[in-house]
Amino acid sequence: MKNFDNSKRAFKEAQGYMPGGVNSPVRAFKNVGGDPLFIKQGKGSHIEDIDGNTFIDYVLSWGPLILGHADDEVVSALQAATAKGTSYGAPTELETELAKKIREIVPSVEMMRMVSSGTEATMSAIRLARGYTHRDKIVKFIGNYHGHSDSLLVDAGSGLATFNINTSPGVPKDLAYDTLTVPYNDVDGIKAVFEKNGPEIAAVIVEPIAGNMGVIPGTQEFLDTLRQLTTDAGALLIFDEVMSGFRAAYHAAQSLYHIKPDLTTLGKVVGGGLPVGVFGGRRDIMEHITPDGNVYHAGTLSGNPLAMTGGLSTLNQLNDNLYHNMTAKTTRLVEGIKAAGDAHNVPITVHHVGTMWSYFFNADPVDNFADVQASDVDYFAKFFKQLLQQGIYTAPSQFETNFMSSKHTNKDIDDTIQAFNDAFDALNN
Ligand code: PLP
Repeated sequence: MKNFDNSKRAFKEAQGYMPGGVNSPVRAFKNVGGDPLFIKQGKGSHIEDIDGNTFIDYVLSWGPLILGHADDEVVSALQAATAKGTSYGAPTELETELAKKIREIVPSVEMMRMVSSGTEATMSAIRLARGYTHRDKIVKFIGNYHGHSDSLLVDAGSGLATFNINTSPGVPKDLAYDTLTVPYNDVDGIKAVFEKNGPEIAAVIVEPIAGNMGVIPGTQEFLDTLRQLTTDAGALLIFDEVMSGFRAAYHAAQSLYHIKPDLTTLGKVVGGGLPVGVFGGRRDIMEHITPDGNVYHAGTLSGNPLAMTGGLSTLNQLNDNLYHNMTAKTTRLVEGIKAAGDAHNVPITVHHVGTMWSYFFNADPVDNFADVQASDVDYFAKFFKQLLQQGIYTAPSQFETNFMSSKHTNKDIDDTIQAFNDAFDALNN
């Protein structure tokens, strides 16, 4: 058995200072039980906790670390940038350089603004959509998570799903009232909402590949329907690719579906582990942002030179070939996991797109939030703890996604598949 005494002690102390002992709720391991691990350092595909235990890491800071921990190039670029000063609050060429790179990879993002988190990106995109259309209502999908701004904290995935919170106390009723929710992948449901509310809808925001209730890909028909309905109603289509951008595919999920959203939000990988979010899209819409237009957006640390350097030194290392290899590794891993479940007669459904993957203890198809909820969440919690004992660090919630990095080796994958088999053995006995 691994010894987690130092993490236990550190967690106890942290609880005296921060609610739940953490700065983001799912980190607390609350719904899988046990205490969270406190991390000392990471390199490549591995992390080490403060008790000296090492793990193959598939959380990767919840997605950003596509090049693994402490990538040499990213680290030296950051060291050089830090020596020049950490923030100026005035423009730098780094911002344009990153913007150019983003537009090269995701061409629908004709113009963009840098922010410091995914939450800020989606919050700003929603404000822009409302300001541009002069309408208030927005549509989101049950189990999709778009960060923690008020309008979007309704029927959300991730931590809200993990802790079974429908909407958060503190969200004004009127704001929640303007957020219409529909089950994910429900074509008839979204058509009905547009029939009733079409002329009042400012925007539909969607995770094209949902990653905050485990991985659930949107169907082509569903996403095509969103594109058509929003165009017909004069509403905007926002693809929230904070997670799926640079993860589901190099050119973002929109390239897989051949759909051009009006606005796109990015985050996670785009900062390479530093705080960066982006919202952008059609030039004629983005020109409504201050100071060109009058939809307000600002940020003391927006476009921060260290954050831009983290993003640039990461994106500059990405290419189609790297994605081909990472996707092949992810496929091999999930096939091994599925085979392990089958060999142990445990019903398991495994989903993966590009470098995103997750598993559900469920014999039936998992296409929306209700299907995820019908999975065996108790078994998931026990399984998670077994995996930790085997040296595998995965997302501590059924309502989250695991990731692959360029640094995971074939040996890491073989060891992980073996660990899944050992975890099934341990729970079956
Ligand atoms: N949108 C999506 C799809 C996300 O997955 C997340 C975070 O997980 C967010 C928005 C919010 O991003 P952040 O946590 O950086 O505020």
